[in-house]
Amino acid sequence: MLGKQIRTFEANEIIFLEGQAGDCAYLIESGRVLVFLMKDGVEVPLKVLGKGEIFGEMSMIDASPRSASCRTLSEVRLATVTKEQLLDRIQSTDPIVRLLMRALLDRLRLQNDGIRGKSTSDSVVHNTKLESETQEALDRLDLENRIARALDAKEFVPYYQPIYDLNSQEVVGCEALIRWNTSDGKVIPPMAFIDILEESPLILDVGQHMIECCFRDLVRMQNDLDLDSDFFISVNVSGRQFADPSFVRNLERARNETQIPARRLKLEVTERIMTEGPQAIQTLQACRALGYKMAIDDFGTGFSSLQYLASMPLHDLKVDRSFVNQMMTLERSLSIVKTLIYLANALNLNLIAEGIETRDQLELLNKMGVQMGQGFYFSKPVPYDDFINLFLPAALPQAA
Ligand code: C2E
Ligand code: CA
Ligand code: CA
Repeated sequence: MLGKQIRTFEANEIIFLEGQAGDCAYLIESGRVLVFLMKDGVEVPLKVLGKGEIFGEMSMIDASPRSASCRTLSEVRLATVTKEQLLDRIQSTDPIVRLLMRALLDRLRLQNDGIRGKSTSDSVVHNTKLESETQEALDRLDLENRIARALDAKEFVPYYQPIYDLNSQEVVGCEALIRWNTSDGKVIPPMAFIDILEESPLILDVGQHMIECCFRDLVRMQNDLDLDSDFFISVNVSGRQFADPSFVRNLERARNETQIPARRLKLEVTERIMTEGPQAIQTLQACRALGYKMAIDDFGTGFSSLQYLASMPLHDLKVDRSFVNQMMTLERSLSIVKTLIYLANALNLNLIAEGIETRDQLELLNKMGVQMGQGFYFSKPVPYDDFINLFLPAALPQAA
């Protein structure tokens, strides 16, 4: 139920009683209410609430009976807040925030039990959903702690996947893709940690670390290989990094240490960045003004809005690998690729195809006019030393 429901009560009316099931919470529009407990038949007042305050929310959050009673002290107007309105929002927050919220509720209930003289064990509710949510929050905290230690131990490293000019089949740049090299010799791919990392403030430090690695490796590549002066490294930057007001300062500090021109670092962002608010857009524009190249990643997989595309200061559009993967067998995927080619041309953007796995895909993309591409057909993402070896003539894909 979305519409606001108003209920009015006379003075001294009961709104709900302790032990009843809770089906909604209330927001006080006017008047005052008293929250109280009953002990040995005597009313024990807990709190007087007034305009703008919410009550009755506890039993909805943890699906327990009302932990206290409530009655009006004057004529009262209350807006009801439904279970759905509250639970949808709570469900979409970080599991750690949910865990904290439940800990606070448990503490409040114990406090109320103490006032009533009830033993704490009476109020322990076993709820498997809560237990699994608690486990999820604990797992997340554990992973975040391990990520923080891994960052200190420099266990996050970039692997590089070459990006080719599809026509000349020369390497024109590469994409840095994070890997977690654990102390026991495992290489963990981003799939296992990137979502949680991107939801945690640690992404700022890990992201900055990746940027610093990219600049340092560009200097090394320049020394180890005879690179074209336009050779670039693409680095994935999350929306949260863009929303950080110190992002540009940190980016420039890392660049100044290496004297690499800004145009040789490409920042790959996804459409989600447009939902990060005005600071993210400002950062995007500042980066563009400083000369950094900007690519939109995974285009067409999120909630792509052409409005966003028109307003973002971009250079490249990356075609998601799901379209490349299916375009030989699914007419619809091929149509999407053709539309993206048309769109990129119209907006004066370069197109980079991801996930090229076969020679047929490469040839079709090249024939349709896609300029650049990357994929397992050329090479998987590899550590720095292997990347350098790709430039040996024998490692380049042979013409058919
Ligand atoms: P992405 O940016 O779309 O990166 C491309 C992914 O496709 C990479 O997965 C790459 O290994 C994989 N790929 C490339 N060519 C092929 C192919 O021919 N076939 C198939 N099946 N896959 C191919 P990876 O390295 O596991 O990275 C996954 C995602 O993790 C990335 O997707 C990106 O969203 C995220 N990510 C990686 N590194 C970073 C980072 O440093 N920062 C942030 N924020 N996200 C990162
Ligand atoms: Ca990417
Ligand atoms: Ca992508």
